[in-house]
Amino acid sequence: MLKNLPTTPQEIISWTWPEIEKHYKDLETRPLNASNVAGWLADWSCVGERIEEMRSRLMVATSINTADKGAEARLKAYLDSIFPKVMAAEQKLKEKLLASKLEPKSFIIPLRNMRAEADLFRESNLKLLADQQKLSIEFDKIYGAQTVKWEGEDITLTRLAMTFQQPDRAQREKAWHLKADRQLSDRKAINDLWRKFMAVRAKIAKNADKPSYREYTWAQFLRFDYGPDDCKSFAAAIEKVVVPAATRIYQKRKQALGLDTLRPWDLVDGWFSRPSPAVGIPQLKPFASIEELKSKISATFHHVDPVLGGYFDYMVAEGLTDLDNRKNKAPGAYCSSYTSIRKPFIFVNAVGTHDDVMTTLHESGHAFHVFETAKIPYIHQLTVPMEFAEVASMGMELLASPYLTKANGGFYSEAEAGRARIEHLEGMILFWPFMAVVDSFQQWVYENPKKGADTAACDKKWGELWDRFIPGVDYSGLEDIKETGWHRKLHIHEVPFYYVEYGLAQLGAVQIFGNARSNQASALAAYRKALSLGGTVTLPELFATAKAKFAFDVTTVQKAVDLMEAVVKELEKKK
Ligand SMILES: [Zn+2]
Repeated sequence: MLKNLPTTPQEIISWTWPEIEKHYKDLETRPLNASNVAGWLADWSCVGERIEEMRSRLMVATSINTADKGAEARLKAYLDSIFPKVMAAEQKLKEKLLASKLEPKSFIIPLRNMRAEADLFRESNLKLLADQQKLSIEFDKIYGAQTVKWEGEDITLTRLAMTFQQPDRAQREKAWHLKADRQLSDRKAINDLWRKFMAVRAKIAKNADKPSYREYTWAQFLRFDYGPDDCKSFAAAIEKVVVPAATRIYQKRKQALGLDTLRPWDLVDGWFSRPSPAVGIPQLKPFASIEELKSKISATFHHVDPVLGGYFDYMVAEGLTDLDNRKNKAPGAYCSSYTSIRKPFIFVNAVGTHDDVMTTLHESGHAFHVFETAKIPYIHQLTVPMEFAEVASMGMELLASPYLTKANGGFYSEAEAGRARIEHLEGMILFWPFMAVVDSFQQWVYENPKKGADTAACDKKWGELWDRFIPGVDYSGLEDIKETGWHRKLHIHEVPFYYVEYGLAQLGAVQIFGNARSNQASALAAYRKALSLGGTVTLPELFATAKAKFAFDVTTVQKAVDLMEAVVKELEKKK
């Protein structure tokens, strides 16, 4: 057992490298055998958990108060002088464990991950990976510098996008063209950058002895349970089943907006082509204060499952939430984890909108994952694959959705809840075809690296895929902006292939929601059981435990879409 470990939050955030290093040195030099490996892992985990918690607490401190100079300095010191040393020390312990050939109980998955990471590691790639990082910074810079003049003012494209929901169609169109023209003016810069990305990625893959960058990414993302062909089956299933359902949604919205054809300026400007809600309906106003948000979310969770409701109440009581938007708070939302005590912290910037309700439900889903893994002994067993981590959160959005009404202690009248739920379900349906475009494009790029580096060929391919998967929106005369859509999807440039995860998680979430509609108690028991496994079993086993299929086929996707469309119909009848 290690002595002198920090325990209180204050001790944890003030931990110094010399103190940390002593523990790593001890672990590194201790002889390792079958009889002491459990204790060795427990000690390693104790150190790792505190380092992880240190990072979380420092990040939380800076994001809840961006003006806290002390917190900022502590985080910077951690990132500059502790984090790289910890990474190197962790690597040595991983190598020591792998070299020992020991197979500790319920350590199969962590060992598998460590082996894959060790196999992929090449000294010669360190510089190339840093170069790739620099290209990402260049990419961010190009997008960050994009502003336009709107009503006499220089504004960012994000702010311009707010005008896209206004009722005056001519104004929407004007704003849309302004944005498109500004983006197209960087066409050459993005194309130049893309060729550099492709060149460095080809080298990285070659150094790692992988046939292409796709195989490299598969290993890097620890995707053991599915391959590129599965992703292609998934895209084919989406084309067959989801595209017609998405087209029905576009049809419906066209009618509601009183339009002959749906043009890009009739869409909510987001990461996928969601049509604007019918004009003239007032925005939902679910809550007026953070206290109200907390108490209504709590009531909703208690209807989903009393234990989960209890978790949320505990978080509120123990100060493990920061939900309101205020000055000197970082933007966005996240769930962090204090690993040594296995407690979550959720961060939201709520201002009173329906999105805030959804975000709080989503981050709470992640938080429940942290609570449920409290009994898992080692930190190494806590790494949950993204494809399932998002099932916990997206699943919670759906599981909570029937209880958002005032009758359940929630936020809305029946009609308001119906409207919010329809938008949510339709948004999920529309996401799948877009995800299929993004994934199919990248499969093609890295399967054909020569053509993939030819930006004109990329434009053509993206245009083809767009027409196949998103036929409901009329881009005629706007081919340039349609075909350069791949320029504007950050993941394609900065985290290649990292996207199908969301589509797969969504499919899991819908299945769990379906189970809850026939038997709430058993569906919730399965969901919680799956969460409690952390990262100790394979992805298909996590899904199976949650009573969902980890699948890519037409039948599974069809079942999900049928369910979603049936619920939408039900809700429309109630309106
Ligand atoms: Zn999430």
